[in-house]
Amino acid sequence: MAIHVVWFRNDLRVLDHEPLRNACQLANATTNDCVLPIFIVDPFWFAKTSFGFSRTGIHRKRFLKESLQDLDQQLSGLGGGLRACEGGTVDVFLDLIQQLPVASVSFHQEVASEERKMEQRVRELCSEQSVTIHASSPQTFCDWDTVPFSIEEVPEVFTKFRKVLEKRAAFPPALPAPSHFRSVKENFSLERSLNALESLDSTKKQDGPNPTMRYQGGSTAGLERLNHYLWESDCLMNYKKTRNGMLLANDSSKFSPWIANGSISVRQIGDEVTRYESQRVKNDSTYWLKFELLWRDFFIFMTAKHGKKIFHKKGIKGTAINWLDDPRLFEAWKEGETGFPLIDANMRELKLSGYMSNRGRQNVASFLTKNLGIDWRMGAEWFESQLLDYDPCLNYGNWNYAAGIGNDARGFRWFNTIKQSKDYDPNGDYLRHWLPELADLPNSLVHTPWNLPKDDQNTSDFLLGDSYPMPVVDLFESAELNQLRYEQSIGAGD
Ligand SMILES: Cc1cc2nc3c(=O)[nH]c(=O)nc-3n(C[C@H](O)[C@H](O)[C@H](O)COP(=O)(O)OP(=O)(O)OC[C@H]3O[C@@H](n4cnc5c(N)ncnc54)[C@H](O)[C@@H]3O)c2cc1C
Repeated sequence: MAIHVVWFRNDLRVLDHEPLRNACQLANATTNDCVLPIFIVDPFWFAKTSFGFSRTGIHRKRFLKESLQDLDQQLSGLGGGLRACEGGTVDVFLDLIQQLPVASVSFHQEVASEERKMEQRVRELCSEQSVTIHASSPQTFCDWDTVPFSIEEVPEVFTKFRKVLEKRAAFPPALPAPSHFRSVKENFSLERSLNALESLDSTKKQDGPNPTMRYQGGSTAGLERLNHYLWESDCLMNYKKTRNGMLLANDSSKFSPWIANGSISVRQIGDEVTRYESQRVKNDSTYWLKFELLWRDFFIFMTAKHGKKIFHKKGIKGTAINWLDDPRLFEAWKEGETGFPLIDANMRELKLSGYMSNRGRQNVASFLTKNLGIDWRMGAEWFESQLLDYDPCLNYGNWNYAAGIGNDARGFRWFNTIKQSKDYDPNGDYLRHWLPELADLPNSLVHTPWNLPKDDQNTSDFLLGDSYPMPVVDLFESAELNQLRYEQSIGAGD
């Protein structure tokens, strides 16, 4: 008897899963071989970031645990449950290979440098132990192998990248789940092996407003969300108009947490959008969701191209900016206490729910780097800790872009957070939801509470500097100062 291991990573599903299909095919080709699906709870991913945040904060831990439980159920229905192994990735593989007749290991490749390094060590171990490796391409929307350029030649500008892909790459449909497999017979309890996640877990409810959307981990909930957004609520037909909204569950698809840990694949989403286009409506909005999925591909290819650079202070452009180290200002940003309502509402939402809209992310990233002038990596690491949908390529790629050290060719571009607030939340509903202390301010003041006259503050419950902070910087002066610093750095580097 031989065992074919499937190493689940950020691909926690049975549908559209090439490694699982490979392993099943190998096992089914003989009368005795078995499939062993594993997930490794490696403490590496739960350690601290370089600025001291928990790499995997409470929201993502909870979501991961639910995703693994759901995957276990799906796999049990096909033949045998998931084995969650706690320990360093290479040690876990060494133990398995020493204890069981492992013939092959199948997995999806990832592109970020730490994931690649770990994968490389597993490959070396398997090669020493004569275990065959089956490595599937990274989980992109396009077919990785049909992209008409080498990794070194990936276009640096998104529009160019997108146009080439749309014209010349293949976009394959999702693969079906295997029908069944023979699994290793063992008495094994997933719950016991998830103790590692349990002990790291702190599900203590944090005080604050309730999020407008609850994210349940696992492909069952992910597919329900897909079905709801497209078929039950028909929101896809207006996606392009609503996607910049910040408050409501259906403003944007909210698929990102399930995509990030692979509970649903982008090809499953692509297939559903195509079916929706043929059965309901095909318009700008249906195209736009596919367009956004190409942004995801773009950052995955950028990460593959630039390797460790996306994590470096100078970013992929190698721009040495004299970032400030100001713990007081950073704390104000992180805790949503800057005195700028749009920034504070978004940062409080992130901390309480693990989610922030794309509009919000662009604003808070711009504010941290272009108004406060603080090292972008502190913001990126805080996002890494808090986000439900954290993905190294998308997070660090977008932060490079926002900090002006990535692929945005437009130089120092900053978001005027007051204008953005008025444009994207004209009635202040989003602000009032996350900042209840501003609930009684009129629409004319909710975006700029510092304009409330002193006399009015004396006669109401609202006191600036007490109920809500004074602005930590002058918006325009701080942007000018940071622009100067940015341009001097660029000049000095040339
Ligand atoms: C500073 C910053 C950090 C970010 N970090 C992450 C991250 O760690 N993980 C993550 O999934 N997204 C990240 N994003 C991208 C984007 O904000 C989220 O994907 C989006 O807000 C998720 O909500 P949604 O699924 O409703 O998006 P929708 O608008 O419904 O988009 C659908 C999907 O398209 C993809 N997508 C959308 N916008 C982008 C984008 N700008 N870049 C790449 N892909 C995109 C995502 O997979 C998303 O789920 C970041 C953006 C910024 C500006």
